[in-house]
Formats: sequence, C-alpha cells, structure tokens
Amino acid sequence: MPDLVTIASYNDVISATFDQHKLEEHGIDSYIADEVTIAMQWTLMNALGGIKLRVSSADADEAMRILRERTEESDVEKTIDESTPAVTCPSCGSNNTGTETLSRRFAGWTWLLLGFPLLWPSKKQHQCFYCSHRWKA
Ligand SMILES: [Zn+2]
Repeated sequence: MPDLVTIASYNDVISATFDQHKLEEHGIDSYIADEVTIAMQWTLMNALGGIKLRVSSADADEAMRILRERTEESDVEKTIDESTPAVTCPSCGSNNTGTETLSRRFAGWTWLLLGFPLLWPSKKQHQCFYCSHRWKA
C-alpha cells in the first residue's frame, strides 16, 4: 500500500479528472477519493472537504508542481470565476452558489467518453449548492 497524500481537492469530478489526466501525461499515478460518496450524496461535499486527488508521497512535490503549471495556464478563466460576486439563488434565496463554465464541463465529459476534449462555445451557468437549482448566468 503506497503512502498516499492529498494534493488537491475539487468541487466536481470533472475538475479532478482533468488534473488526474494531467498527472497521467507526466507518468504520475493518482487516485480520486470520495467521488462515489459525493456523487451519491451531494450534501456531503462540504463535510468531506470536496473530492480529493491523492498521489504517493514520493510523487507529491512533482505532482503539485505540474498542477500549479496547469493552474497558471488557466489563470484567465479562474480570475473571472473568482471575481464573480455572490449570486442569490432564485429558487431558495441561498447565496451559497457557484458558477461553472459549461464548455469546460462538456469538454470534461467528452474527454472521459471519447478520450479527448471537445471544445464548445463558453456558456456560464450558476448553481445553488443548497438546493441544487441551476440557472443561466
Ligand atoms: Zn437554491
């Protein structure tokens, strides 16, 4: 049993899978933890601290360096997401909401299904973490 350490955590399986593929390209084996539990019980997300990406402790430094590079590459998209002000859910009034870019989600699924990502025009969607309601930005 390798000594596994958590190097990142995610709000969705797609993002975790993106990073896992990235590490694979560099020959690093990684493991996604808790994704089954979270898929079954979305509300456990916060309690579990998100979906975790784990690698063997020997690979941790290299893996984190690779993921940092990836993060810098997608800085533009990330900056936009982080600067988006809190949005109130039109369904339940909670402000525990997030924004996701559909093109990225779509690319993730095609990556999983076809083995390569299909790019799609970017379209943003809000999601309420409290009641799971989704609506267009
Ligand atoms: Zn809501």
